[in-house]
Amino acid sequence: MKTDTKSTVLLKHHLKALKLPTVLSECEKVAARCAADNVDHLGFLLQLLDLELIDRERKSADRRLRAARFPAPKTLDEFDFPARPSVSKPQILDLARGDYLTRRENVLFVGPSGTGKTHLATALAMAACAQGKKVRFWRVTELITTLREAEQDRQLLRLRQQLAKLDLLVLDEFGYVPASKAGAELLFDVIATAYERSSIVLTANLGFEQWTEVLGPERLTGAALDRLTHRCVIVETSGESYRLHDAKRRRRTEPKS
Ligand code: ADP
Ligand code: MG
Repeated sequence: MKTDTKSTVLLKHHLKALKLPTVLSECEKVAARCAADNVDHLGFLLQLLDLELIDRERKSADRRLRAARFPAPKTLDEFDFPARPSVSKPQILDLARGDYLTRRENVLFVGPSGTGKTHLATALAMAACAQGKKVRFWRVTELITTLREAEQDRQLLRLRQQLAKLDLLVLDEFGYVPASKAGAELLFDVIATAYERSSIVLTANLGFEQWTEVLGPERLTGAALDRLTHRCVIVETSGESYRLHDAKRRRRTEPKS
């Protein structure tokens, strides 16, 4: 093991100060390899900075994924499209390219329980993360509870500012539990703030005509629906539950013991 010379000690100090951890950890290895391969100085610098950049992108992608708080990772590769014929594969693959995010449009998945709404919403949102977008996944009831708690702790403004910084807000399971009046107003406020500024991917087990059962007053429901559907893609996931379908299929294919 060779001892550090004065200049390598100084170099490492500078690399730390400049926050180039990968250059710091790799520079000696890459320098030795470049010397052996007769790579010139600029080529050496390029190799080193390439490594730093790749590592930085990987770390920030990991950070974005963690910040999004997905309940379980889901991808489109895992989605069995033939099992859900009401969902168009080309349409979903097109959505995954993320143009709707640039246009600040919304995507609504509507259908009964177990038909893949959360799966598809998560897969789209994970694709958005990979494209560098700031994403946060919320179950609607959890968001309402958090908003109400923030309100009580005088932190509502801060939470709203955090939500407003997102590129994509996932609102999962709209319609499972009716919101209280205060909850509905707080939720409406989030939807209104996101309107034309960022995108919302929402999943709902209720048809639009039943939304008053969740949000209450016609006027509030109408205003929320208006903003959500003004520029949006609606995907209906109709049919029987995938869990049921999967269980039946397994029962058919597994030999009886
Ligand atoms: P929903 O949100 O509509 O109630 P989920 O997306 O939670 O349904 O789906 C229930 C379970 O079934 C999840 O584990 C999901 O990954 C799986 N699933 C649903 N539809 C499909 C599908 N078409 N292909 C593969 N897995 C699916
Ligand atoms: Mg769901």
